[in-house]
Amino acid sequence: MFGLKPDWSLEVFERYFTMGDYAGGEARWCPGCGDHAVLTAAQKVLRDEQQLPEMSVCVSGIGCSSRMPHYMGTFGFHGLHGRALPVACGIKSRRPELDVWVATGDGDCFSIGTAHWIHALRYNMDMTLMVFDNAIYGLTKAQTSPTSPLGFKTNTHPFGAILDAHNPLTVTLGITNVSFVAQVVDWNPPLLYETLKAAYRHKGTGFVRIIQRCPVYAQKLSKDLQDNPERFVLLEHPQGIAMDKSVQRQFPNRVEHDPTDLNRAFQVAADESRLPVGLLYHNPDAICYEDLSSQGVEMTPEERLAGFNTVLDRITI
Ligand code: SF4
Repeated sequence: MFGLKPDWSLEVFERYFTMGDYAGGEARWCPGCGDHAVLTAAQKVLRDEQQLPEMSVCVSGIGCSSRMPHYMGTFGFHGLHGRALPVACGIKSRRPELDVWVATGDGDCFSIGTAHWIHALRYNMDMTLMVFDNAIYGLTKAQTSPTSPLGFKTNTHPFGAILDAHNPLTVTLGITNVSFVAQVVDWNPPLLYETLKAAYRHKGTGFVRIIQRCPVYAQKLSKDLQDNPERFVLLEHPQGIAMDKSVQRQFPNRVEHDPTDLNRAFQVAADESRLPVGLLYHNPDAICYEDLSSQGVEMTPEERLAGFNTVLDRITI
């Protein structure tokens, strides 16, 4: 309990943060949009971890979800379409002490940002990567996205999407050095919170695909998923996401899944008859690129020049 030591004496904090310390401007997403739930869950994680707001930065690309930095009381960077991850990697590379959150969407990450998604997961820098996946481009008013299901009608495909949806889980699991892959739905707050917390605590890139409701442009799709929990399978394991009975009651289908088993994670992700929720894969020992790239960040220009000259002297003929 905050403020009380185990012996029930009062613990006096020099600084104590409440949810308000992580809140920025008023969120202007549509009423009922799943983005609100993700914002609240992320702020709760920061509050419960007592993360210094001035040491956190939220980075985004373009899309509805990418408005998140405006609504956080942390530092923020609202970037260009598909470019959230290179900005986040740049921040982490030069300022590894900062806590980095990335807010991106299915269009932003899985379409225009695809190259960055692949390489950033391989770099495995220590950040929390939230992909808000509503299966449509919402900000630009209903175009087909890479995760729009076959037959889904949009402005760009009025007779229905003509290809099967892209599976971002199998792609992510196939990236060399990937270290944390989870999937969750926005309408289960305890599971969403615990999943983001686990991703935040993980040292490396915590990839969380959040199946997110867009009641404006994907109302039927969102409702069908929300009303049919049997479409999902809850992944349970002592090394997985912590969950209580209230979460288990929501999902009639549950399986034991060891998140250290990459081959099994592939099978679970590839079975599109039941969407997995929980932790698919976790490797806490994967190399983090910033541990290598940030070496020498504190050096003075003179020290860098001296080091540079030393290296050049070795190869001077
Ligand atoms: Fe949310 Fe959809 Fe509105 Fe965008 S258009 S804010 S995704 S409900």
